[in-house]
Order: sequence, then C-alpha cells, then structure tokens
Amino acid sequence: MRSTLLSRRDLDFLLYEWLDVEGLTARERFADHSRETFDGVLDLCEQVATKYFAPHNKLNDANEPTFDGDRVTIIPEVATALDAFAKADLLGMTFDNRFGGAQLPFTVGTACFAWFQAANVGTSGYPFLTLGNANLLVAHASDELIDTYVRPMLDGRFFGTMCLSETQAGSSLADIVTRAEPRDDGTYRVFGNKMWISGGDHELTENIVHLVLAKIPGGPAGTKGISLFVVPRFLVHPDGSIGERNDVVLAGLNHKMGFRGTTNTVLNFGEGRYTPGGAAGAVGYLVGEQHRGLAYMFHMMNEARLGVGLCATSLGYTGYLKSLEYARAREQGRSPLSKDPSAAQVPIIGHADVKRMLLAQKSYVEGALALNLYCSRLVDLQHTAESDDERSGATALLDILTPVAKSWPSQWCLEANSLAIQVHGGYGYTREYDVEQHYRDNRLNPIHEGTHGIQGMDLLGRKAVQNGGASLLAFGGALSGTVAAATERGGELAELGVALQATSQRLLAVTAEMFAGGDIEAAMANSSIYLEAFGHVVVAWIWLEQLVAADGKTGDFYDGKRQAGRYFYRYELPKTAPQLDLLASLDRTTLDMSDAWF
Ligand SMILES: Cc1cc2nc3c(=O)[nH]c(=O)nc-3n(C[C@H](O)[C@H](O)[C@H](O)COP(=O)(O)OP(=O)(O)OC[C@H]3O[C@@H](n4cnc5c(N)ncnc54)[C@H](O)[C@@H]3O)c2cc1C
Repeated sequence: MRSTLLSRRDLDFLLYEWLDVEGLTARERFADHSRETFDGVLDLCEQVATKYFAPHNKLNDANEPTFDGDRVTIIPEVATALDAFAKADLLGMTFDNRFGGAQLPFTVGTACFAWFQAANVGTSGYPFLTLGNANLLVAHASDELIDTYVRPMLDGRFFGTMCLSETQAGSSLADIVTRAEPRDDGTYRVFGNKMWISGGDHELTENIVHLVLAKIPGGPAGTKGISLFVVPRFLVHPDGSIGERNDVVLAGLNHKMGFRGTTNTVLNFGEGRYTPGGAAGAVGYLVGEQHRGLAYMFHMMNEARLGVGLCATSLGYTGYLKSLEYARAREQGRSPLSKDPSAAQVPIIGHADVKRMLLAQKSYVEGALALNLYCSRLVDLQHTAESDDERSGATALLDILTPVAKSWPSQWCLEANSLAIQVHGGYGYTREYDVEQHYRDNRLNPIHEGTHGIQGMDLLGRKAVQNGGASLLAFGGALSGTVAAATERGGELAELGVALQATSQRLLAVTAEMFAGGDIEAAMANSSIYLEAFGHVVVAWIWLEQLVAADGKTGDFYDGKRQAGRYFYRYELPKTAPQLDLLASLDRTTLDMSDAWF
C-alpha cells in the first residue's frame, strides 16, 4: 500500500534523478556511503515513522502535555517512538563519525527527517531541536562541552532546546534581558525568564540541554552584547553521570492551536527554587566567546529555518496525499456532460475543480520539497567544497534561498492544507479526518524561527543587497543555467524557460529600482510582498529544474510532474506580475496609513 505520509517515488526522483546525491559519495566525507546505504536509511525512516510516529499523531493532539505544578505528563507513546528513533541511531545520521554519527549527506538526512515530520510533528519536535542544538555545539563549543552534552544527545539520553525568546523580546532579540553573571571558576549564573521554549520541560530523557541567549553585565548594548550559554536541567559530573538539579524551572505550559505534542514552556532561570553548589542562579557554561552568541545562534537558526520549511512541506505533503486518496474514494455529483440523473455519482477526483485543488497542492508540496532538498545539497557542498569558489558560491546561494526555503513552504504548504480540507468538504472540517490537524499544526510555521515579516526584511534588506548583491547574482546565475538547459531541450521546456527568464529579469530590475531613489523606508515597506514574489520565482525555477530532469522520460509519474509544472507556470508564476508592479512603484499605502484611521 502506498504511504500517505510522503511519496518515496518522488523522493527517489529528487535525490537520484535530479540532485545526483549518489555523486556526493565521490567526496571524501561521504566515501563510505552508496545508493544502498542511502536507500537503507530512507527505508528505515519510513518504517519507524509509520510504525511508531504516525499512529499516535491524533492522540498527541487530543491529549496535550499537562503540568501539575511539579511534573509534566506526556502520553507514553511519545517516549516509545523517541526510543525507537534513538535505537535506530537516527539522531547521529549526519554527524561526524568521530561523534558516533553516520556522516550521511545532509540532503539524505533532510529526506529522512521529512518522514517523521509528516507522521507526527509534535513528537518529532524533540529530535528536531536536539539535532539543531548538537549541531551548534559541534560548530562552536569547546571539546569539553561537546563531550559532556553532544554525545549524550546523539545517544538520545539528553534532549536539547533553544532559548531565545522572552515576553518582551520575540522578533527583536536585541531587547532580551536575561543576564549571565560570571563566577570565579569560569562558569556563569543565569537569571531571567524565557518564553515559548519548545521541549523546555519533560521527563523523556535524563537531562535537557538548554542553549540560552543572555547578556553579560557591562557588555555592549543590543545584539552585540548577547552571549550564548549551555544551561543543563541537571548538572553533569566529570564522569558523565547526572548531578545536582540546576536552577531552571518550568513556570507553565503554553496551550497551542496545534503542534500540541511538543511541550511549549515558560522557563524561569535563577529564581532560587534550586541552589546548585549552595547558591541560587542557573549554572551556565559559555559557548565560544563572549558577545558572539547571536552569531552562533544564527548557525542553528539557519538550519532550523530550513527545518521549519521542511516541516511545513511535510505537513503539506501528507495532507495532499490524504486528500488525493479521499478524492478517489468519495463519490459525489456527475459530469457536467451527464444528462441522466439516475446515473451513478462519480468520484470527486473526476471534477475539474477538485483536480485544480489537487494540482495546486501537488505543485506546492513537490515544489517545496524540491527546494528544501536543493538547499540541503548546498549545505553538503558548503561542508565538502573542493575549492574556495565552490564554497563561496554555495554559501552565497544558500544565504539568499534560506528565507525563501523557510517562508515559501510555510505559506503555500499551509495553503495546501487548507485545500486538503476543502477537498474533503465538510468531513475535512471534522476531527475524524487528519487534515484539520495538519492545518493547525502547520499554522505555526510562518510564526516561529523568524516570522514571515522578519524573513521578508532579511531577504530584501540583507540577503538581496549583501556583498554588492553577490547572493542575488549567484541566484541569477543558477537560474540562467537552468534556463539554458531548458532552451537546449527545446519545445515546451524552452517556452517555460523564456517565461522564467523574463520574470526573473524583471525581479532583478525591480530590486535595483527599489533602492535606486534611496527611500529605504518605502523600499522595505513591502518586503513581505517581495518575499512572496521572489519565492514564486524561486519555486518556478525549481520546477523547471525538475522538468529538465524528467525530460524524455515516460510514464504516469513523469507526466504528473510535467502537468504540475505546467500548472505552476500557468496559474502561479503570473501572480508575480502585479506584485512586481506594486514593488516598483514604491507604494506608500501601508506607510501612509495612520494609526487613527483604523
Ligand atoms: C509554538 C511556538 C514555539 C516556539 N518555540 C520557540 C523556541 O523553542 N525557542 C524560542 O526562543 N522561541 C520560540 N518561539 C518564539 C517565536 O520564535 C516567536 O513567537 C517569534 O519569533 C515572534 O515573536 P513574538 O511572538 O514575540 O511576536 P512579535 O515579535 O511581537 O511579532 C508580532 C508581529 O509583529 C511583526 N513584527 C515584529 N517586529 C517587526 C518589525 N521590526 N517590523 C515589521 N514587523 C514586525 C511580526 O512579523 C509579527 O507579525 C516559539 C513560538 C511559538 C508560537
């Protein structure tokens, strides 16, 4: 039976026929791997996700974690699933052999993780955070911190969190007030309150490793004064055994619209409930150097942003497959050509408008998954670059694609979930079917890891203009390469290439026009619209890449790719024209709107 979580056929096409992931095994880092090892781990992930994660997805939603003032209670199926995940050695998939990892390409790791996010976002939230946390420590922490915290995380004995947000500092991290006071022994004591911390409290693991942003008194103001600390829930003895309870406590759980299986917490640091070493204050260990915390955290956030995009995609993908299955089974109405009211009703997939909703979903979710995997491959190229040029090229492109890879799936795969509900009609609006939960779960993705608006400002105000427009040029170059390949193939591909080239040239011209007059406020006022237009151009490019890879191949799978690509070019790409006109005009409607006029 075909899975309704993801399409393995599509993953195989993207990984092997398009991105040539097998080719990565020519690089030293991946030399121990082969198509067989990649297929083996993909099979394993599908099995573990299907057997242990998917079955309690609805249960997790209906029975969210509770807190009695002392302990958090979580349904037992979550621990069983996470245990299976850890026992299958999946936490270490992409980590170095020297940390006990399997050193798989990040691209394969991404494809693997999508199975878990599609099956159960709530439960997969714990390893998701843990992997990001461990990755940051490997990149920036001392060997001692890595030995003490990363290894147990990769074994599944500890889980990790990221503690950035505070009630008064969400988008604006410059305004955090949590402070870290240095002690003579080189440690710090952390005092303050963190809001929204996912996975911040539970008893799923022996320990929780919080990565906390805090300011050291006397440091520079704003983001330049932010440092990063490891603050474990329990201190760890030099031999690795669990020691005293640290002074970090759960103040309460947040009650969410979706994503309910992952605890979301308000944490108090240093309130004096516990007194490690005889004194109040949460013991913290500085990561790297003082005042460089935000830069380190961005390391994690960039990968987390790709992961959030992947999460949105996975939820969109499973919703699409479920609505497809439903549309094939649900009989309702007759063809507009049918004159006989006593004729049998037809499956709704026979109606053009239902096919439109399914095609829209297919074009969004397959486009988004392809974009996520493309970006993951750039991470692999960055890590294994054979020349400085290759590394800087991959970095420039990844930089500009990251806000898109986070935001585009968060917007359009959420729309896919809305369409999946619509395909189900009234049944889709009930909790008996899965799709309403997917929509609620997915609604988080445009909010966390930098809201949609923040991503728009990052794309237009930073990424598009950085290093003299180097990232924008890298994107233009990659896109032109695809257009050239499409032109060479001729026919419909060449026509799509012409449409893409024209739109991308307009996008580049509009970007320059927006800044030409020096009115930064007007240029930035519509940065979310810029993000959306840019995103559609990126995904049109990614679709053309897929169509070139499918060229000359026959069968339903490839015909389906071609039709979904056509759909994107006919129904979606044209939406960018009015958006680009608006951007070029430096429209001031939003800026000029007075607070009093609302
Ligand atoms: C379920 C959930 C899980 C989370 N998990 C974590 C976690 O594990 N760790 C963690 O640290 N945080 C976490 N967060 C916090 C999340 O990252 C923040 O909610 C997010 O960054 C937005 O901050 P905020 O909620 O304070 O909204 P605000 O920053 O108040 O934003 C409100 C609105 O104003 C807009 N806005 C804000 N500033 C500007 C500006 N300068 N220009 C234009 N528009 C602006 C925003 O785009 C948004 O639309 C989580 C949040 C949720 C809901």
